Amino acid sequence: MKKVGPIVNGKELSSGGGTFFDVVNPANGEMIAEEACCSTECVDQIVASSKQAYFSADWQNMSPADRGYYLLKLADIVEKEADELIALELEDTGKPITQLKDSEIPLAVAIIRFYAGAADKIEGRVKSTSGGAFHFTTFEPYGVVAGILPWNYPLVNVAMKVAPALAAGNAIIVKPSVETPLSCVAFAKLCLEAGIPPGIVNVSLGSGSTAGQSLVVHSDVKKISFTGSTSVGQSIQKKATEQMKSVNLELGGKNAIIVFADADLEKAADAAVISAFVNAGQLCVSCSRLLVEKSISSEFSAMLKEKLEKVKVGDPLAADTLIGPMITRSQYNIALDYITEAPAEGCTVLAGGEKLRLSGPHSNGLWIRPTILTNVKSGMKVATEEIFGPVLSIIDFQNEAEAVQISNDVIYGLSGSVWTKDGARAMRMIKALQTGIIWINCMLNGYPQIPVPPHKMSGTGVELGIEGLIAYCKQKSAIMAYDDRAPVGWDIQ
Ligand code: NAP
Ligand code: MG
Repeated sequence: MKKVGPIVNGKELSSGGGTFFDVVNPANGEMIAEEACCSTECVDQIVASSKQAYFSADWQNMSPADRGYYLLKLADIVEKEADELIALELEDTGKPITQLKDSEIPLAVAIIRFYAGAADKIEGRVKSTSGGAFHFTTFEPYGVVAGILPWNYPLVNVAMKVAPALAAGNAIIVKPSVETPLSCVAFAKLCLEAGIPPGIVNVSLGSGSTAGQSLVVHSDVKKISFTGSTSVGQSIQKKATEQMKSVNLELGGKNAIIVFADADLEKAADAAVISAFVNAGQLCVSCSRLLVEKSISSEFSAMLKEKLEKVKVGDPLAADTLIGPMITRSQYNIALDYITEAPAEGCTVLAGGEKLRLSGPHSNGLWIRPTILTNVKSGMKVATEEIFGPVLSIIDFQNEAEAVQISNDVIYGLSGSVWTKDGARAMRMIKALQTGIIWINCMLNGYPQIPVPPHKMSGTGVELGIEGLIAYCKQKSAIMAYDDRAPVGWDIQ
């Protein structure tokens, strides 16, 4: 049985002073590792180690270019150790191996390389003000920051927190979901192998209520970057306010793909299937609502059903599997509850609508049949609440105005996708939709360069892009007098 423990100052602890958690493979229900969870005292020890590493001469004297150099080394090592990381992620999440190999490892590596290259390009400004003084702005690291992660993309998410935090010059403590700690701990060890000093990337393990919360309230943790549910994000923001701590929150979504009658329907249907069902719908930016123009609704629903029938759910090791299991038992139960209660709200199950029973080694896995619901109306639970499972709700609309109104009629504002050949309409939709990222005639393409700034209850702040690097920096203004014209007091001109 594997054992996994917190990483403190370059060492993996065999106990975190708290309980031990059974890490389970959701594809077959087998226990794969024993996780040593942190007590509050252990988190204090981790923060002290991070603080010491942050203020060490090694880290303080390291140039931004050298931080970039170590991140580049890290990206190479992640690529070299891809098989090992894939094996851990496979066991921990049951994700299809092709998804890990072809998407998640390359994305994690690309994110690290992007921030490696950006480390020495954080630039302040010189301001045009009156004579006698020189005015400029600079960016500084926060110090010790914390990254709190969900279980849906453990490796990509840890790369997405660590790379910009380090590029900006911070030390980071990551707290993975208690359900999926393996790749996060392995990643922290690879940081050491890359030459990143011990203590600069520490890992706190255990439940959010202890291992996470202790970081949020610790006065030496100066910024929290959180990815997870809206309810936990709200509670973290409230706690952080007590110390005026900076927060970045990437939260839930109820994203819509909007298909107009003039769209390339084949492409739109392919995009809808991938976007709704990849990672079994456990993806914050995936589309869980399909808004379709009424005149093509039946035709389009039939296309979707036909495409979905060809999608393989099951054995994560099979090269043609697109959909794996639900990653946690609690999310499995949540998604199944939505699915089983949906018909009572008045909608129709076009496909799926139940558990998937696999035989053999996967018979104890957390499998759900990908589900399409039609006749969904605004206001129904499946139209408004985040399910975070393999469920696509189809809602018809009559015209552009109604498409906008339905799309915006949710509390969330993360992503959206519009399919039309009318360029002017596409521009109007970009303006009208209340989401942080919008794809036109495409869906889910993500690049490290493109920021994802959540709107409404989907969060605050921004991840990815140069903007996501600046999010790990404090701003400072400086005014330096060089002759007597520099006034004391206001010199308003
Ligand atoms: P979650 O329950 O909010 O948990 C996220 C992380 O926060 C976990 O590590 C959790 O610890 C920890 N946590 C829980 N309570 C805490 C507290 N009081 N203080 C500090 N940390 C705490 O979310 P999840 O179930 O892991 O992930 C699913 C959700 O994440 C979905 O709603 C989804 O939309 C959202 N998500 C958003 C994005 C995005 O980029 N916008 C990306 C992925 C996922 P435990 O180990 O105890 O769970
Ligand atoms: Mg697991």
